[in-house]
Amino acid sequence: MTVSPVPVGKVVLITGASSGIGEATARRLAASGHRVLLGARRTDRIAALAEDIRGGGGTADHRALDVTSLDSVRAFARAAHDTFGAVDVLVNNAGVMPLSPLDRLKVDEWNRMIDVNLRGVLHGIAAVLPLMRAQGSGHIVNIASVSGHRVDPTASVYSATKFAVRALSEGLRQESRDLRVTVVSPGLTRSELAEGISDTAVRAATRDLMDIAMPAAAIGAAIDYAIAQPAEVDVSEIVVRPTAQG
Ligand code: NDP
Repeated sequence: MTVSPVPVGKVVLITGASSGIGEATARRLAASGHRVLLGARRTDRIAALAEDIRGGGGTADHRALDVTSLDSVRAFARAAHDTFGAVDVLVNNAGVMPLSPLDRLKVDEWNRMIDVNLRGVLHGIAAVLPLMRAQGSGHIVNIASVSGHRVDPTASVYSATKFAVRALSEGLRQESRDLRVTVVSPGLTRSELAEGISDTAVRAATRDLMDIAMPAAAIGAAIDYAIAQPAEVDVSEIVVRPTAQG
């Protein structure tokens, strides 16, 4: 009888791993045997999370990361390569959502959404693409949103960034025969995302909506599923919503 070798866990980089979906994804993927590198600006959070994962028998490390800086994201990708010897999967998860009506002209917040949600994803792609092309394999998982499929009042700019993430993911997929590209579009998910809304009325309304939110672990499970497929199978898009979300 031949025994199949136990597969070695993949090296997975996760941006925005200090809370919410990124944190839950790190825990889930580490529990599945993957080696995770955690990135975010709040290094105390990701240091504690990495330690917690290692305490549970998983493999994790962390690095300070600001996705608005290409240099920072490149250093993050290099750190994964130096620490673990490969870059198999990038989860482009970092995001911000300061919702407001356009009439409020919160232009700085519009720019921040573009810088983090869109430019940050592009920086992630630029940082890992040469490494993955050289390996001849890799997987880029971009976190979009149901707001990348529909537009609602106060969410115009946020939606614009998420529509854009879906567009560039599809372009990258079409240009790649050696890499897998997955877009995960969550619906309402429990996290700290709404806390960044500066408009008090919109923040209160968003918090109310969050009453039906799913646990962030639901998104970690979807990402784990996409990664677990055989190399020749690309799960291109996953939409995961709370059952009660309209
Ligand atoms: P959280 O606010 O809990 O997490 C956001 C993460 O992004 C944090 O870890 C934060 O880390 C990180 N981040 C923000 N700015 C930067 C930056 N400049 N550089 C590096 N990291 C950064 O929210 P979620 O977990 O909900 O958000 C994760 C993703 O899921 C986002 O892309 C969001 O748009 C998307 N999403 C969320 C939904 C929801 O209902 N929660 C629904 C649909 C999509 P730090 O501040 O430490 O840098």
